[in-house]
Amino acid sequence: MQTLFAATWWFGQIAVEAAQRRWQESPERDSALRLLEAVVEGAAAVERDPQVLSVGYGGLPNRDGEVELDAAVMEGGRLRAGAVGAVRGFLPAIYLARAVMERTPHLMLVGDGAARFALCAGYEPQQLLTPESLRRWHEWRQQQTAPKEVSPERGSPPAESHDTVGVLGWNAGHLVAACTTSGLAWKLPGRVGDSPIVGAGLYADNEAGAAVCTGVGEEIWRFALASRVVEAMRNGYSAQRACQQSIEFMLRRLPDVAAHQCAVIAIRADGTFGLAATQPEKFEAFLCRDGVIERVRAHQE
Ligand code: ASP
Repeated sequence: MQTLFAATWWFGQIAVEAAQRRWQESPERDSALRLLEAVVEGAAAVERDPQVLSVGYGGLPNRDGEVELDAAVMEGGRLRAGAVGAVRGFLPAIYLARAVMERTPHLMLVGDGAARFALCAGYEPQQLLTPESLRRWHEWRQQQTAPKEVSPERGSPPAESHDTVGVLGWNAGHLVAACTTSGLAWKLPGRVGDSPIVGAGLYADNEAGAAVCTGVGEEIWRFALASRVVEAMRNGYSAQRACQQSIEFMLRRLPDVAAHQCAVIAIRADGTFGLAATQPEKFEAFLCRDGVIERVRAHQE
């Protein structure tokens, strides 16, 4: 096998197809740059799709009706990373994350600072709400009796109100991870989840492997899930065992995590793949091995 792309959820298919297309378009490029571009393009394709209600354009907004995006990218060679958090009005957020990595001395920009950076980098502000996401927000608002500043209970958000596209790329031992999301629907403004946090939502190290997460960010983040999985692979576990063992640890340490979806996909430095989830029957991913697409389920049917 020469290349492997993997991505989370049903829209992972959109991501791996776009990644593979970009990979094939630029055979003359340096392979590390080519892999980075392919993975970023895979994530961007999902951001542009208005049918995906949890990523980019058409993603469900925060409590105030504003779409806030989180995105990050990491390269396993030199452990370079870039991220944006709670950025409003720019798309694709994953391009901004890449620009933070390549054009600033920082790893992450958030909120207004990220928006100013986007303007300076030449991105045009745009409306990210679609008629459908606006309709759902109005519907949600009508169901609210009193505005809640903070809700201390840890109830599960409705099934389709979150989900991140996490994309992994592997080529001859080189790894790239990326993810992008509009986060939890109806979140408090300024809330940032695990996705743009290196070590929580994603991690990549060519010496061990790469992992990217999706699910309730508050749970994933407290366990530093992506780096936990990569460290397990560094310690000799297969990609599948590393994912499974990390999810089992979360469930043992805090059993009520079982009420939330927390999922991870991983590729080890040798190109083998794994995935696991706290609610495996609801989780799937897509792979593209040398151009051949396959759907993989966390739950054995
Ligand atoms: N991890 C994302 C967040 O918490 C949402 C998801 O992937 O479901 O923002």
